[in-house]
Amino acid sequence: MSPISQNLQVVHEAIALSALRYDRNPTEIALLAVSKTFGAEQVVQAWQAGQRAFGENYVQEGIDKIAEVRSLLSSQENTEPPVWHFIGPIQSNKTRPIAENFSWVHSIDREKIATRLSEQRPVAAGDLQVCLQVNISGETSKSGVHSNELLALAKHVAQLPNLCLRGLMCVPEASEDEAVQRQAFRQLAQLKQYLQNQGIVIDTLSMGMSADMQAAIAEGSTIVRIGSAIFGKRHYAV
Ligand SMILES: *Cc1c(COP(=O)(O)O)cnc(C)c1O
Repeated sequence: MSPISQNLQVVHEAIALSALRYDRNPTEIALLAVSKTFGAEQVVQAWQAGQRAFGENYVQEGIDKIAEVRSLLSSQENTEPPVWHFIGPIQSNKTRPIAENFSWVHSIDREKIATRLSEQRPVAAGDLQVCLQVNISGETSKSGVHSNELLALAKHVAQLPNLCLRGLMCVPEASEDEAVQRQAFRQLAQLKQYLQNQGIVIDTLSMGMSADMQAAIAEGSTIVRIGSAIFGKRHYAV
């Protein structure tokens, strides 16, 4: 077994344990393997171990890797291809390759980006599945819509063609304290409930990374985004 396939097994077991502990159905928690900084060969190893969803943060790196993985897998018959998720910050001049190459985008934080993705999404590719990235209180990062502007953004995105609004995503400030981690994730879960109360149809909470996955599952995560626990330590600054 490759180290990546062993790591995947460990992560699946950790998801199952957290689900059991917090009374969640483990089948409602999807694993997104974050492959940023890792090569196409490593993605293929994870794919061979059964992993299908992969997350990328950088546009050029992502589209190069998507093409490489496609060619590495082209000899495999009847294969279920990888599903690519874009999870990084989005500049408005980079929306087209995202709209053309990814199935999901987790990091929409303003109307202009959503509108461009909607206009640039090839109809034949089907709806782009999207989440809104929220800057939950106390976060110093500049990414993410503020909670007081979230409803307006959600209403805008929900009516755009070629996009399907699925839910919310956050990247809280790192903390080793599980209570602090849970507090941040709870805010995102409450914002999802708030939007649902306003009639917005969503089903996804993209939250939890290698260091805070359990807290995210405790608070209702439906997609955990896991990089280093699957692929190992990253070797350049991100
Ligand atoms: C890098 C990254 C992850 C994965 O982080 P790990 O700590 O390696 O699990 C998840 N989400 C986003 C947005 C990231 O940039």
